[in-house]
Amino acid sequence: MYGTGIWRGMWITLNHFVNTYVEDVKWGFKRHVPTEAFPSRQGMEQRGVFTVEYPDEKIAVPERFRFIPFLVVENYDHPDRPGHDWCTSCGICAKVCPPQCIWIVRGTDPETGRPKPEPEDFHIDIDICMNCGLCAEFCPFDAIKMDHDYELASYDRTGNHIFDKARLSKEFRYWQSIAPTVAEKEAEARGGWEHKDVLKARAKEAKSGS
Ligand code: SF4
Ligand code: SF4
Repeated sequence: MYGTGIWRGMWITLNHFVNTYVEDVKWGFKRHVPTEAFPSRQGMEQRGVFTVEYPDEKIAVPERFRFIPFLVVENYDHPDRPGHDWCTSCGICAKVCPPQCIWIVRGTDPETGRPKPEPEDFHIDIDICMNCGLCAEFCPFDAIKMDHDYELASYDRTGNHIFDKARLSKEFRYWQSIAPTVAEKEAEARGGWEHKDVLKARAKEAKSGS
């Protein structure tokens, strides 16, 4: 019969329209509240139409979401190494980065002049970064991770989008908060929540003590 498709399409549209109000009532007109309805709104069971009033309201991103990388540093209240870089300045991330937007300045010991396993500075040109996540995948120290912060637009077209170490560094607990299950799996693989070097030193101490 001619016109069936049109009626079916209109029926779907009408369903969406009605379901919008049904869902609003179901959620007590709190569909916009992140803690109340966000998980459901982002799931397959979501019905009806919903407009996100960005930037007042933001949809939560999934744990595996990736935008610009950040550098993991020890928590600022860490008892032994507050704010210490997890990065050892090995350079692997810079080598694997497809558009070559990472520059690392390796630190040197002021007394001996020899290189030390810490970055003096670390730069990422976030206009060039293509958010592939390879740097994070390849880092052997879990020291570079993909951030969830996507609000980085600015009017500055000069150096504002070349992030330095200070701007890239974030506490380890931040990584735990944005990616709890991934962070837990990584800690399991490392053998503990601490940096690999700390875990190694502790194992060595335990061995020499026994
Ligand atoms: S791969 Fe990891 S440890 Fe090596 S330079 Fe990059 S962030 Fe630092
Ligand atoms: S996410 Fe990809 S493009 Fe961006 S810095 Fe890492 S490796 Fe380079």
